Amino acid sequence: MAGMKCVCGNTMSTVVSPNETELIIFTQKEWEEITEGTKHGLNVFDIEPRQAVWRCRACSRLYFFEDNKVVKRYVLEE
Ligand SMILES: [Zn+2]
Repeated sequence: MAGMKCVCGNTMSTVVSPNETELIIFTQKEWEEITEGTKHGLNVFDIEPRQAVWRCRACSRLYFFEDNKVVKRYVLEE
């Protein structure tokens, strides 16, 4: 998944890296595991977030992906 159109009409893309579309999100528990792992040789550049999340820069909608398919979409309420 390198690009798709948001329901607002904006085209989102992650072709260019770094970009402002893809968010790297970890739960606090995952982060604790990562920080603990780095103390034991885990390389932070080998870490992939479990959940792919994109944010539309035009309307701030959030898209959550699983297996390259959108499974949740959130719209900004305020
Ligand atoms: Zn949008």
